[in-house]
Amino acid sequence: MLCLGIESTAHTFGCSIIESSGSDSMLRGRIVSDSRDVYKPPQGSGIHPRDASRHHCQISDKVFRNSLTAAKLSIKDIDVISYSAGPGLGPCLRVGAVIARTLAAFHDKPLVPVNHAVGHVELGAMLTGAGDPLVLLVSGGHTMILAFSEHRWRIFGETLDITIGQLLDQFGRHIGFSSPCGDRIEQLASQSSGDYQSLPYVVKGNDVSFSGLLTAAIRAVSDQGNELACGDVSYSLQETAFSMITEAVERALSFTSKRQFLVVGGVAANKRLAGMLKTACKRQSSKFYLCPAEFAGDNGAQIAWVGMLQYMATRKNIEIEEALVYQSWRIDEVEVAWNR
Ligand code: AMP
Ligand code: MG
Repeated sequence: MLCLGIESTAHTFGCSIIESSGSDSMLRGRIVSDSRDVYKPPQGSGIHPRDASRHHCQISDKVFRNSLTAAKLSIKDIDVISYSAGPGLGPCLRVGAVIARTLAAFHDKPLVPVNHAVGHVELGAMLTGAGDPLVLLVSGGHTMILAFSEHRWRIFGETLDITIGQLLDQFGRHIGFSSPCGDRIEQLASQSSGDYQSLPYVVKGNDVSFSGLLTAAIRAVSDQGNELACGDVSYSLQETAFSMITEAVERALSFTSKRQFLVVGGVAANKRLAGMLKTACKRQSSKFYLCPAEFAGDNGAQIAWVGMLQYMATRKNIEIEEALVYQSWRIDEVEVAWNR
């Protein structure tokens, strides 16, 4: 079976093809091709949904064709088409949904809407082999601690305001980078003198809050106003935010007694965060799994894999009129149909 997945929730437009093998109850996946293009807003600005959707429209044909060419396949070879139906930015989501509907209707293929957060989690589990992990999803759109129970991914803890990706990107924009810029902050922090400046640390139960931390970090660089300050504040920002997340994760590991822990989402690429989480796992005797950096951020393979799992489990083809998008679609609203 071959499933084409189309991702377009925010900055990334991606198309990927996954091939499945094995039985329905023990499905295995292989990424045959993965093509994507990331919208870059002007320096100092965040993602403008209309501009990002325009980017997706302009490059969609190229990305789609690249995914087929790299896989040496034609659209006729594809068995199932899936698209990210939410959560995300409305104008961006609609580009992927329209393309998926058109391909499915014209070529008479089954169509599967996919929850983007489930995509992050399930692709991470597939690529690492984690079977029953506690999951940390850290990205531009999410900061959540998740555990699977009774047919759903349940939220054990989450951010009460902005996500960790928004924290890093908004701070980065303030010091002159273009979004997304978590990797630039990581670089700055690693080159700093390591002079920790105290910043607000807010953990409430299993939840975290980053908005006060962002305000204080912006104020700290504005007050000091030199390049050295940018490095030290980036370092302090990372240390504070990542310690908050690690505290919440360690408590969740202790509470749930999960023996596996998986990190997914674009911020999973950060080596300092991974290091802190790995140490917490050691303390809790849990095995640490990290989604490969190449597939940690948004991509079509996440959508193709969940589209495949969903279709193989239900053989359900939704009508074109039902193929909608949902800007706020929480992961715990999704009833998981496949074996897990
Ligand atoms: P996603 O929404 O999953 O595509 O993830 C995008 C987010 O990951 C953005 O907020 C990026 O700034 C962030 N990100 C990417 N690489 C890194 C990194 N090395 N360190 C921290 N954040 C990162
Ligand atoms: Mg994402």
